[in-house]
Amino acid sequence: MKKIIFLFAAASIFVQIGLSAAPVTEKLPSGATLVFEENHSAPLVAADIWFVSGSAYDGPLPAGTAHLAEHCAFNMTKNRPAGRIDWDAECLGTTLDAHTSRDWIHYSCTVPSRYIEKALDILSDAVINPVYDEGETDIEKRIVADELSRKSMTPFSVMKDFLAADLYESNPYGRPIEGYPDTVAKITRDDLMKFRSTRLTAARCAVVLVGDITKEKASELASKYFTLEKGEPAPPIPEPKTPQYSERVVNIPYVLTYTGFGFMGPKAEDFDEVCAVDVLVTCLVRGGMGLINRAVKGDCLSDFLTSKGRGMITIGFSCKEEEAAANEAALLQVIEEAKAGVDPAVAEAAKRYLLGTSAFDNETFGGRASALGFYFTLGGPDLADKYIDGVRAVTPERVSAAAKKYLDKAHAKKVVFTAKKEAAK
Ligand SMILES: [Zn+2]
Repeated sequence: MKKIIFLFAAASIFVQIGLSAAPVTEKLPSGATLVFEENHSAPLVAADIWFVSGSAYDGPLPAGTAHLAEHCAFNMTKNRPAGRIDWDAECLGTTLDAHTSRDWIHYSCTVPSRYIEKALDILSDAVINPVYDEGETDIEKRIVADELSRKSMTPFSVMKDFLAADLYESNPYGRPIEGYPDTVAKITRDDLMKFRSTRLTAARCAVVLVGDITKEKASELASKYFTLEKGEPAPPIPEPKTPQYSERVVNIPYVLTYTGFGFMGPKAEDFDEVCAVDVLVTCLVRGGMGLINRAVKGDCLSDFLTSKGRGMITIGFSCKEEEAAANEAALLQVIEEAKAGVDPAVAEAAKRYLLGTSAFDNETFGGRASALGFYFTLGGPDLADKYIDGVRAVTPERVSAAAKKYLDKAHAKKVVFTAKKEAAK
């Protein structure tokens, strides 16, 4: 995925969200949703266009179509030749950004407020009028292939893909966001055009505008530029089967051994559970100070991304081969202890960490627009603020209850990466 670059981050880093009005939503004539938050503390507007159209919705198109479409978004359009979109954006003093995950895809930039109409002209052109020129698309396919090969050098990312494949099986969350080398290679222009006409539609879209702009102007500009086809709302994510414990050992010549467990977590609509699980995974691994960090000798991972369907909780570590068995026993012991009870001071520190991270993420107009759009795709932009109260309300007892409910080894998947030759099933 492309790197987040907010050219105006330095200028807007001190934006005080306290000065902003609460977010409002409005249905645009196209059927898309405008999510708007007025804030005049800096002369900037963040525009962020979100669609409930991530990789989980790729089928029946080839796996990786949403991600490749994101890569092609800022290429040639019906109105702009190759290179012109980025050039036009840079003339406004900004860079365009786009990301794809399992649930969503989004396109964003932050500009001085006097340029917001031009920015929306560019973003809407990228979304509505892509040409998917074959030469340009081939270049992007090579960039995606390069991303896939770089990902293979980040063991915990590879680990998460393996665990997702085992945990979700045929559920769409089991596929990697980028697809597979062979499915990406066979994506055609036709597939990309189908993606655009069926996934980048009004029924799945939020136009998020945050900053130095009035509600009337935001509504007028979003209606004028985002004349998307209506389309159908995103179908529900299928309920995954209850997983049963299994493990596999994979022979990959990383220097260290990697051990990971995948557990089925809650879905976004169970938002209180999401907040409790976020506190739980933060208690387990928080910087170098979590409960697992204290027990395991090596780098530790504990991760949960809020998702529309049931999200995966990943817990793992890397270490020398000869220390793996003792570390695994220590990790499982920490999980059992968390089920029995969590020290209130540890839970409090985890909550402070999450609230601090969330406050930091919401500090810039771009970060705030991103949070509102992210939660729009998961159920509603109001969840961005409910998250604060939700985390505050989590008690140590609820952290333990979440550990009992979700970290059940009988329903987990285990993956080990070892450089040893005798890799078994
Ligand atoms: Zn990418």
